[in-house]
Amino acid sequence: MIRYPVTRKRLEELIEAESPGWLRRAAARTAIFRQQGFYEERSSIWSEVKPVYMKLQGGEKCAYCERKLEATDFGKGEQDVEHFRPKSSVKAWKAPQKLVDQGVIFTVAPPAGKGYYLLSYHVFNYSAACKPCNSALKKDCFPIAGPYQLNGEEPEKLLKEKSYLIYPLGSLDANPEDIIEFYGSSPRPVAKRGHKRNRARVTIEFFKLDDENKRKNLFRERAIIMLALFPQLEKMSGPASAAEKAKAKDVVDGFTRSNTAHANCARSFKRLFGSNPVEAKAVFEKAIQLVISSS
Ligand SMILES: [Zn+2]
Repeated sequence: MIRYPVTRKRLEELIEAESPGWLRRAAARTAIFRQQGFYEERSSIWSEVKPVYMKLQGGEKCAYCERKLEATDFGKGEQDVEHFRPKSSVKAWKAPQKLVDQGVIFTVAPPAGKGYYLLSYHVFNYSAACKPCNSALKKDCFPIAGPYQLNGEEPEKLLKEKSYLIYPLGSLDANPEDIIEFYGSSPRPVAKRGHKRNRARVTIEFFKLDDENKRKNLFRERAIIMLALFPQLEKMSGPASAAEKAKAKDVVDGFTRSNTAHANCARSFKRLFGSNPVEAKAVFEKAIQLVISSS
C-alpha cells in the first residue's frame, strides 16, 4: 500500500466534474439515513464516482494490494467502490491464530445490522479496490482495537477507534509506507512494537498480502519488478556512461512512481539496494527463482 494525496476540496471538485450534482444528492441521502438511524436504500449512487477513485489511485491501482487494473474505459468491472467503514453492518473478522498468539486484541463486532450509516456517502470513506481484496476478503469486516463509533460522521474524528486497516487516500490516516514496507516480495511491519506494528500485521493478514499461494499473482508481479530494477540499479552505481546511467535512472523512476504497480515494494527494494547491494542481489536471485518456478 501507498498513500494517494488529495485534499477534500480537490476530491469534491473531481467528483462534481465526474458526476455533476452528486454531492448534493449524496447529502440528501445521508440526511434520510440520519433521520432513520440506519442505512437503507433501494439503489445506490456511489458507482457514479468510481472513476474518480480509480484515477486518483495511481492510475487504476487497487488501494490495498497495489495491483494495476485496466483503465476506467473498460476496467470498471474489475474494481469495486469500497466502503472503508462498512455502511450497513460490521461483521467480525476471524483473526488467524497467529495474530491472537502475538497478543493482537480485537474489539467485539457490533450487533448484526449496525454499520456506519452516516458514512455511506462520505467521500473519504471510499476507495477503489480489486474484487479479491474487496469482495472476497474485506467484505463487511472492519477490525479495530478501540470502541466502535457507528454514529460518526467524519472519519478524521474516529481515530479513537484505532482501526487496524489503513485508509490510503488523503492525509486522514497514517502514510501506509510508514506502517508496511517490503523485504523482497514479502510485506512486513515497519514499526518494532505497538499499535503501528499491529496495524501492519493485521493488514497483511487481512488482505493475504504475504500469502504466496493464495495471492500468487502479487508475488509474481513483485518479483518481476525486482528483476527489472536490479540491473538498472547496478548500472546506476557502476562504471556505465552518464547517458546509460540516466537511462537506468529513468527506468528506476518509472518503477518507483506512485502510479506504477507495487510501488511500495519497488521503493523498498531500491532502498535495500542503496543500503546493502549484496543483500539486494540475494533478494534479486530469489526473485528470479520465484518467477521461474511460479505457474
Ligand atoms: Zn487488491
